[in-house]
Formats: sequence, structure tokens, C-alpha cells
Amino acid sequence: TDTPAQSYINSVFEQLKLKNAHQPEFLQAVEEIFLSLIPVFEQHPEYIQHNILSRIVEPDRIVSFRVTWVDDQNQVQVNRGYRVQFNNVVGPYKGGLRFHPTVNESIMKFLAFEQIFKNSLTGLPIGGGKGGSDFNPKGKSNAEIMRFCQSFMTELYRHIGPDVDVPAGDIGVGGREIGYLFGQYKRIRGAHEAGVLTGKLPGYGGSLVRKEATGYGLVYFVEEMLRDNNQSFLNKKVVVSGSGNVAIYAIEKAQHLGAKVVACSDSNGYIYDPDGIDVKVVKEIKEVKGERIKTYVDYRTNATYTEDFLGIWSIPCDIALPCATQNEINGDAARTLVSNGVKIVAEGANMPSNLEAINVFLENGVLFGPAKAANAGGVATSALEMAQNSGRNYWSFNKVDEKLHEIMRSIYIESKEAAQKYGTPGNLVVGSNIAGFVKVANGMISEGV
Ligand code: GLU
Repeated sequence: TDTPAQSYINSVFEQLKLKNAHQPEFLQAVEEIFLSLIPVFEQHPEYIQHNILSRIVEPDRIVSFRVTWVDDQNQVQVNRGYRVQFNNVVGPYKGGLRFHPTVNESIMKFLAFEQIFKNSLTGLPIGGGKGGSDFNPKGKSNAEIMRFCQSFMTELYRHIGPDVDVPAGDIGVGGREIGYLFGQYKRIRGAHEAGVLTGKLPGYGGSLVRKEATGYGLVYFVEEMLRDNNQSFLNKKVVVSGSGNVAIYAIEKAQHLGAKVVACSDSNGYIYDPDGIDVKVVKEIKEVKGERIKTYVDYRTNATYTEDFLGIWSIPCDIALPCATQNEINGDAARTLVSNGVKIVAEGANMPSNLEAINVFLENGVLFGPAKAANAGGVATSALEMAQNSGRNYWSFNKVDEKLHEIMRSIYIESKEAAQKYGTPGNLVVGSNIAGFVKVANGMISEGV
């Protein structure tokens, strides 16, 4: 028979499933958190009294709007834009913008929901939000990207502000897009409110280390996992999926710490380089030329390309860092990684492992660093950018990097301690979910209904 905590959690989830039947990603993100929270609700009946779960799964608001723009052939194009303002108990809504054809309300809600707990874990004053559009930046000219960003901001500006909601980048949105978005916001508002967006280019309101922060932070987090087990990155074989901002700087930092990174990918396929990935070549391909990752083999004699995006998980490795997108590791991929001897999996992307995959890792003794904790370095550095903007100054690269390092260490410790306290030592999924949740829940109670 169920305890009161279990039956409360089950009933909230059943209601949510009825209301959100067509939002599988959102339900997946909620289910993972709810499963982690059972021991917390056993010990804190006040969370049931205040009906925290029914409240926390309901976004404060979802803004959805039309984005109209003119392409290079003078044709009018139409896309949908979104901003999910999920929870602002800990601070102003904060979270990236994703431009990708798969964007829909379910994806936006899962990302914004995860962001609440991730942002809370950073220990900095930022709430949870996310936004984006089903616009596909692939193959678009610079002028088309600019016109799209301007049109997107022409609608979004009325919903955001440095103390209201602070967007940043995510898949398909980097420094260039943030620049265009900021330019348009500034034109409309007639004021230089630097803190309205983060991920701005350094020298124009942006923070040093922001670009590198998610990837570096991920590796700092894994360093703590390794250290706790008397190990290091030295000579470890690492596979990193993706080849965007997160992947590139995870590869760079892991190599810096002595790892051998042998593979990375894009949404078409993966490259394998037995001599170790040349990160300068990846940067040239992705950051300068904007080409597909398969061109890597033109630069490196021993490298091979395989047109199978998910095949990357069949490469034997000690450490796997999924840095591409949601649900890129299913149960089968997880079993393949385990049978090939993987020791650590840590998530640079948001929700890259599905629930079955997470269970496969945990049941087989793989050390697992969940996204909310492991990739929080990006948004944490965004919060440092907001602090610099408010203080009207800039910090040095080393100062920001040191703070990032410190934040990742304390996220690791907090997650580990919460897991211990609530009876699942070593389970960082449970630990990070609980540590992130408790602050938000207590804040909600303190602020009243
Ligand atoms: N999109 C990143 C994330 O998933 C960063 C968000 C931000 O910097 O606001 O956390």
C-alpha cells in the first residue's frame, strides 16, 4: 500500500497526464523529478498541505506568438515563438532561447521546468524559464537570421526585462543571435538595459567565460565525480556527442586535463578520430565556416565519419558526455555503453538520457551526473553576467572561471549530500532534484498562495 506521500505524488501526476496528454517530453521531465521527491514528501508533510506539486507543475504563464519575417527571396515566412515563464520564486525568470524545427510547447515546458531546479541549484538568484521558436537556422543567411531575431524580439520585448525575465542562448542561439536580439530590444526600449539578455559578446555587455561555461562546467563537475573516486581525467577515453558550444568546450577542457576525446557528432552523424579530436579543427568547422561535422575527415588523415547520429554510443569509452539534445540516449544505447565498460556518464545537454537509460546506468554502477547539476555552469555564468551588468563592470577571465569552478564544486557537494540525507547515497539524480526542489518549495511557502 502507498504512503500518503506516494499517493499524493501519484494523484498529482495522474492529473497532469490527463491535462498534458500530448506533451511527452514535459511529462518525462516531471516524472523523473516526482520519483526523486518521494523521500522528501515522506519527511515534509507541509509540502503536501501546501499542495506544492500541483502548483509547481503549472507555469506562471506561457507566451506564444507569431513571428513574421522576409527571406532573401522576398518571401514572407511565418514561425511560432514561445516564452515559458515557469517559476520566479528564486529570482527573475531565467533560461535560454532555442531555435530549432522541433520546438513546440512540450519541449519548451520541459526545458523551462528543468531550468527551475537547475537554476535553484546554482545558489544564485535566478528563477526558471525558457523560450524559442520552430525557426530552423540551418542554411539561413546572416541577413535572414538578423531579420528573424528582430521580428522575434519585436514581440518578446514586452514580456522581458532585467528584473522580469532574462533570456539567453540554447540550441541555435549563440552570441550573434543574442547581439541581434539585444540590438532590437535596445531600439524599442530606448535604453541600454544590459541585463535583459545574457550570452552577449564580451566587450558589448557579455561576460568572459560565458561561451565556454557549460562545457567547462560539465568537465569541472565530472572532475569532482572522479576525485571522489580517487581518479582523474588523465588518459581517460572520452566520447562527446554534439559539436556545438557545449561539446566544443567540454572537449577542450577534458583534453586540457589529460583526457583522450575520440569522437563527437552533429545531427547527421559522428566522427571518430583515434588520434584524439583536434578541437581547433572542430572550432574552425563549426564556429568559423558553419559546415557539417563530416568535413572533419578532410583535415585529419586517420579520422572516419559515420552517417548515424546515435551510433556514437557504440564507441567504447570510459566517460560519455552527451552534449547534443534531449533523448539522445535510450535504454539500448545505455546498455551498449555499459557493456563496453563506461564508468561515468554526465549530461551536457538537457535530458539527453531517457528514464530507462538513467536506470540502466544506475543499476550497473555507472557514476551518473544528471543535466540539472552537470550542465548548470552555463546558466550560472549567465547569472554572473547579470551581476557584472548590474555592477556596471567586467570581471577578468580568471575571476569568472574561478567562480564557475567553485559553483560546480558546490553543486556536486549539495547534490551528493542531499542524496545521502534522503537515503540514496551516490544517486546524484535524486540528490540534485531534491536539492534544487527544496529551496523553491520553501520559497513558495514563504511567499504564500
Ligand atoms: N540554455 C542554457 C541552459 O540550458 C543556458 C541558459 C541561460 O544561460 O540562461 O541552461
